[in-house]
Amino acid sequence: MPFTVCYVVLDSAGAAHLLDSGTDSPENRDHLSTQLLRIGVTLESVASLTCTHVHYDHIGLATWISEQNGVPIALHRFDRFDLESGAIEARFSDDADVLGERYGVPQAQRYRLSRAGAMAPPAPALDVRFIDDGEMLPIPGRSLYAVHTPGHTRGHLCFVMPEEKILLSGDHVLPDMYPGIGRGGTPPDADPVSDYLASLQRVAEYDDYLVAPGHGLPFVGLKERRTRTASHVLRRADEIRAAVTSHPQASTWEIASMIAWGGGWEALEGTRLQSALAQTRMYSVFVGGARGALEHG
Ligand SMILES: [Zn+2]
Repeated sequence: MPFTVCYVVLDSAGAAHLLDSGTDSPENRDHLSTQLLRIGVTLESVASLTCTHVHYDHIGLATWISEQNGVPIALHRFDRFDLESGAIEARFSDDADVLGERYGVPQAQRYRLSRAGAMAPPAPALDVRFIDDGEMLPIPGRSLYAVHTPGHTRGHLCFVMPEEKILLSGDHVLPDMYPGIGRGGTPPDADPVSDYLASLQRVAEYDDYLVAPGHGLPFVGLKERRTRTASHVLRRADEIRAAVTSHPQASTWEIASMIAWGGGWEALEGTRLQSALAQTRMYSVFVGGARGALEHG
């Protein structure tokens, strides 16, 4: 991701409310402080911190601010649970045999699973406040409410500003790329692909809004973007369905090797390979091939 957008909403008393932040790094700390000062906001005076989801590129700097000024971070409870339980990172492993067994990876190929320099998961924030679907954020003089849009993570939230007709879409809908699905905790019976498609439908009532995404520039044309994104997901599902149907006994590894990957299957390794296998498993669940995939690795 080239950058993450941090949105600042000023309330009727002039206090600042932050929605999402960037990855925590010394440069980003400086950058955020400097940019806030340009609009007359100090970090100490930030009145609330809210995140669309718990990924480090959205919560990183919010965690840092929270530690300094004691303002809790508002999140959906599912993301908090998945962060605390370690489920967010469970699709990755540094133990090639754990993944090898899970996905039916042949011994001779397991070396490809090892990942170097993996990003550490964000530390659970000290103080968290839960936000529910439909909840209005406590921002004096502003109307801004949450919409639960599970898919990218189980607890992903979008935020709606009905008076300004703005949808803060986090990583649910992006202008320049297709968001990853199931990038949070995925319990064994979870079907994040179905959740994601339903969540794309869920924001249809904001099709005429300005979309302010977590990555990229604000855009109009939500309906077209939703449609394209859903088609991309369904094309992937068709591909997996065809592979599962023609090879009902195949392992997740074998199914993954039959479908098209950017850069080619043979070139996938490390985190990208682990992610490809997790995706294949997830789509297998979606197309109903879960039983075969689970029984045969
Ligand atoms: Zn993101």
